[in-house]
Amino acid sequence: MSIEALGISKHFGAFAALKDVSLRVETGELVALLGPSGSGKTTLLRIISGLEKADAGAGMVRLHGEDVTTKGVGYRRVGFVFQHYALFRHMTVFENIAFGLRVKRRSQRASRQQIREKVEQLLRLVQLEWLAGRYPAQLSGGQRQRIALARALAIEPQVLLLDEPFGALDAKTRQELRRWLRRLHAELHVTSVLVTHDQEEALEVADRVAIMNAGRMEQFGTPAEVFHHPANEFVMNFLGHVNVFHGRVEGGRAILGPMEIDYSGRPHATTVPARGLVRPYDLEIEHHPNGKPGFAATVCHINSAGPRVKIDLTAESGEAVHVELAHERFRALALEAGQQVFVVPREVNVFVDEGQG
Ligand code: ATP
Repeated sequence: MSIEALGISKHFGAFAALKDVSLRVETGELVALLGPSGSGKTTLLRIISGLEKADAGAGMVRLHGEDVTTKGVGYRRVGFVFQHYALFRHMTVFENIAFGLRVKRRSQRASRQQIREKVEQLLRLVQLEWLAGRYPAQLSGGQRQRIALARALAIEPQVLLLDEPFGALDAKTRQELRRWLRRLHAELHVTSVLVTHDQEEALEVADRVAIMNAGRMEQFGTPAEVFHHPANEFVMNFLGHVNVFHGRVEGGRAILGPMEIDYSGRPHATTVPARGLVRPYDLEIEHHPNGKPGFAATVCHINSAGPRVKIDLTAESGEAVHVELAHERFRALALEAGQQVFVVPREVNVFVDEGQG
């Protein structure tokens, strides 16, 4: 069951929440919509589900090739899981999952025995068989979300839409549940769209990631593509920490804050404003210049509590610089606060202001 949302625009009054966005999700894929708050992720998800309509004449939704733009949410057979678990408080876990099976039309309704088997199968799938008799108030947040997912799956949805399903949970539980969701998806292969503003979650769980910003889609690609080949500055900035060095390009060189590097992408003599973005682990620290382009800096602060050592420095030109080193390399350098060192970038992504110069 593929999903296509094509040329979608959506206004709320004068405000444009989505501006000509297109998304194609292949059968069995799990796609994450990732972006900051207010970028339009939930609005796009609701339009896919049929809960919301795109502006008149501005977009089409197709499920497995069928145009469902004018069809309601019931017709589209969508399973939902939201951030705030919408379990029925007065029903047990078993009854919550069975609910969707009981409310089906009389002609399609399953027998009591079939319902019992289906609920037990779903409870096994989410690995919570032992909670069948409990009420929602007696579950942890993570357990409630797994039950909400089992309930969404009970109607055998054609597509599964997840809106920040782990948003209200603590960091450790989120991490466990995202691995669990990945495994579950590999087993079920239900075409799924997950809304999240957590870049780690999107990169870890999804087959492909759509990065949204202010109602537009900035990039759509595999986690490796968007991370290693960001389409623009916004994407690189959004997907993890970066050092930003402001400057210019001219005559095949980029002069960016304290750095000067080759920039063959623009050999013209005219000067154009540009920025160099460098991830903290793409900066190396040396005690002395090693012949490669780099700059002098002073170590200000060292935090070694974590998988990598985080080092804050100040460049001679005044910029704050963040570097991450492997513990082994950190020990070999024997760094201390106050030391003068030399910082050498391994990889700089240069973004030039288009249309200038
Ligand atoms: P978040 O991560 O905070 O949920 P989001 O990326 O999902 O954000 P949306 O919920 O899609 O963003 O909202 C996009 C924009 O549209 C926001 O500026 C929001 O205020 C606006 N918006 C959404 N729904 C409505 C509505 N029913 N009426 C008016 N404005 C709305």
